[in-house]
Amino acid sequence: MCQTKDDSGQNQKNNGESPHTSIDSPRRKFLKTAGIGVAAATVSPTLLAASSKSAITVTDNGYDVIVIGGGFAGVTAARDISMRGHRALILEARPRLGGRTFTSRFADHNIDLGGTWFGNSQPFIWAEKMRYGLELAESAAANSEQTIWMNGDNRVVGDGSTYAQIYGSAAEAFYAPTREYLPRAFDPLFRKDFGDLDETTAAQAIDRLDLTQVQKDLLHSFAGINGHSFSDKSSYLDQLRWYALGDYDLWNMWDNLSRYRFAGGTKSLIEKIHADGDFETRLGTAISEVHQDGDKVTVTTNRSEKIEARSVVVAVPLNCIHDIKFSPSISKIKLEASRRGHTGSGTKLYAQVEGKNPVFMGHGKESMPLCFAWTEYNDAHSQVVCGFGLSPNLLDVNDDDEVQAAFNQYMPGLRISESVSYDWNHDPYSKGTWCMYPPGMLTSSLAELQRPEGNIFFAGADIANGWRGFIDGAIESGARTATQIDEYLSAGASA
Ligand SMILES: Cc1cc2nc3c(=O)[nH]c(=O)nc-3n(C[C@H](O)[C@H](O)[C@H](O)COP(=O)(O)OP(=O)(O)OC[C@H]3O[C@@H](n4cnc5c(N)ncnc54)[C@H](O)[C@@H]3O)c2cc1C
Repeated sequence: MCQTKDDSGQNQKNNGESPHTSIDSPRRKFLKTAGIGVAAATVSPTLLAASSKSAITVTDNGYDVIVIGGGFAGVTAARDISMRGHRALILEARPRLGGRTFTSRFADHNIDLGGTWFGNSQPFIWAEKMRYGLELAESAAANSEQTIWMNGDNRVVGDGSTYAQIYGSAAEAFYAPTREYLPRAFDPLFRKDFGDLDETTAAQAIDRLDLTQVQKDLLHSFAGINGHSFSDKSSYLDQLRWYALGDYDLWNMWDNLSRYRFAGGTKSLIEKIHADGDFETRLGTAISEVHQDGDKVTVTTNRSEKIEARSVVVAVPLNCIHDIKFSPSISKIKLEASRRGHTGSGTKLYAQVEGKNPVFMGHGKESMPLCFAWTEYNDAHSQVVCGFGLSPNLLDVNDDDEVQAAFNQYMPGLRISESVSYDWNHDPYSKGTWCMYPPGMLTSSLAELQRPEGNIFFAGADIANGWRGFIDGAIESGARTATQIDEYLSAGASA
């Protein structure tokens, strides 16, 4: 039976266990305002729009900073700001923290419906893991017994080394320009001249290569999963960045994308970061408007309230920035990039398998309902498989038969007892999955998206310099924004 989580934390089409939607860190950090708390219902976009029509009260509690959005970027920013002695408040639309990460219980595991894996070349998440002593777990597929790929419509079951030879040589050709154009992985705009790489789509770059059709299919699918959309949607230059970040090594890049996860789920890390700071948090509080007036910023909430602070951090997803009304307006480039959005718009799901099958890693074609699938948990008497597809149009994750058929393309005998997914694309507070940029956006918009405007600052995985689109990038960006705010507030105090 399939389950989909909605953002009130309720299972749709399922009577199973509800996911964890609350944070168990100290209650004192949560404002005990009536109607606000972990059980608050998701706020609809209608409420966002309606808020400006309601009777408004203005609150000035002497906040130095209001952080809009309680994902990894927002919570990291709030922790680091508070550690520098400033008074901060997080306003989060959903009834939980974590944003595009969301730990739930499924098949007796702490599974992550959103952001999950990380690797050795991701310095910011790694530093937090070490700092809080969190336990790691590894994807079962890191030691897969079978590697499965497609030759046209035919399934090939092979060993890792044959696959590595066919796919690896193709990938090396695809990533060949990386060192020249991205010599500093964490400084994507270091080299100013990128030729036509940013305007070229990943699909165009693949089609230019002198490779077999099997190799091209593997590359289209890989570029597809990395952009979480079809390979003709993402910028070739932005695809190359991942290779640079993976130390210019294909298999190290893979490890960073899929090897380690937190044994307690991403929830275990965000709880630690949240508990470590000294700031206030309001859940179920969506912001509809940000008004800047001299050295003050006033935000308007869906709860008919205006709250003042000396500065604001906008830590919402790129795709949601334009849903907030800014007065005076923020720059046109920011708003246009937000309206255009990143490419991430596919599906992710987990399924519990009856009995045991070989532990496998499947690399399919981008037209398949799931372009990648693999064994994530190899338990004593059952398994949990995970799959990614490039569009909800290719797979209805709530249709048991479609889900069964999608996994059977990789492993024909595999029987599924239950599956779970989350609809990030229709959630008004994500409007998509992870961030890769469409053609032209990296060179035209990244620097501007990062640029503060007056006392409004911006943070988020979607505007990170390094692992943009990852938890690591969210922490990088949140930490950097906290430094910018500290400098801004300290300069004001000494002026
Ligand atoms: C399916 C999926 C799989 C992924 N896999 C991985 C992975 O394996 N590894 C990895 O590192 N990353 C992965 N990612 C990406 C990673 O989860 C994100 O890049 C990262 O968590 C984003 O953090 P953030 O804080 O920038 O944004 P978010 O987590 O999106 O946080 C933004 C917050 O702003 C809130 N918000 C939005 N609008 C408003 C408003 N008007 N008022 C108040 N609050 C608002 C949102 O509710 C949200 O909590 C995945 C993402 C998805 C969806």
